[in-house]
Amino acid sequence: MKLKPVPRIEINLDKIQHNAIVLKQLCEAKGVEVTGVVKGVCADLQIVNTLIQAGITRLAVSKIIHLEKLKKANINATTILLRTPGMSEIPNVVKYADISMNTELTIIRALSEEAIKQGKIHKIMIMVEMGDLREGVMPKDLPAFINEVIKLRGIEIVGLATNFACFGGVIPTEDKMREFSSLVQQIRQQFSLQLPIVSGGNSANIKWLMETKNIGVINDVRLGESILLGRETTKGEVIPKLYQDTFKFVAEVIEAKQKPSVPYGNRGKNGFGESIKFHEQGWINHILVGVGRQDVSVSGLTPTMPVKILGSTSDHIVLDGKKILFKPGDEITFIPNYGALLSIMTSPYIHKTYIEFKGSKHEKQNNVYSIYKQKIIPRH
Ligand SMILES: *Cc1c(COP(=O)(O)O)cnc(C)c1O
Repeated sequence: MKLKPVPRIEINLDKIQHNAIVLKQLCEAKGVEVTGVVKGVCADLQIVNTLIQAGITRLAVSKIIHLEKLKKANINATTILLRTPGMSEIPNVVKYADISMNTELTIIRALSEEAIKQGKIHKIMIMVEMGDLREGVMPKDLPAFINEVIKLRGIEIVGLATNFACFGGVIPTEDKMREFSSLVQQIRQQFSLQLPIVSGGNSANIKWLMETKNIGVINDVRLGESILLGRETTKGEVIPKLYQDTFKFVAEVIEAKQKPSVPYGNRGKNGFGESIKFHEQGWINHILVGVGRQDVSVSGLTPTMPVKILGSTSDHIVLDGKKILFKPGDEITFIPNYGALLSIMTSPYIHKTYIEFKGSKHEKQNNVYSIYKQKIIPRH
């Protein structure tokens, strides 16, 4: 028997592709393109390929190292840096990003100088603050800002963008979106700029996208979580027709014993400076799996079996196995949320494995994933 590596993340490429195709169709019906955001999976090239096969032509990340990875893999898509570049990153941004998002004149001036030096035109999108209070130029400052940027050689403004529900949790309502659209139109007219890309937000915009009767001038959204995990992000609601079990995190039981439910002895803080409350429930099925906080954001894991996560330390998750009789070597599977996915994909200690579906269309539609081949890609 060939043992599968643990801990591992099982990445279901077909389900991710399905999600991307459905979202793309939903957006295209409204004249909106999908930029695939792959920062949550560290620009994993298998996932990137899957998205490209789904017809996605723009890919966005937030780290230079991921831009470099995409460029070196020669992927057939436009690469976008989602985050405004740091001064220290300017040469590599010009080298590896087709487009970068920007909010600071000093940075754009540095990009301009660098682009001239590299003999390139660097494309930028300007991020506009619409109330969520992370990045963006305040709308009142936008005309003066653009007026400066258009003077710079080596820089082309290819669009305006805005972002919601990342920091302040501000929802892209019909009103907010209309406000952004009219701002874009005003800038287009004032400066006779084409601004071909108008990017209206992220996975928090799905509800608005599905419900709006007036898309305004928005023609792009940047989707990460909704493609990867099948959820919109204002309330974490499931998006109809999409899969949520695209990623499964599998860990191995390393100890299974009957133990009391409450620690005994004099108690202080634990290894993480916490004082955890325990509930007296007699003796329990006390289970340890061999992975912990160093590898995964444990609070973002949901077990697929009726067991309960009691807590975690650097290299262990402690569970109540309830009625299931586990033994060492058994596997416990969890569905990660976005935060957990982020940590798992970033951890060099978790094996990345890929599942591709070989069944018929019929089975696919009925959500019966019985026949699949599993490719285990070893990590270096
Ligand atoms: C992360 C990010 C996205 C994607 O967000 P999701 O909620 O994963 O769709 C889009 N735009 C910007 C600027 C981001 O930082």
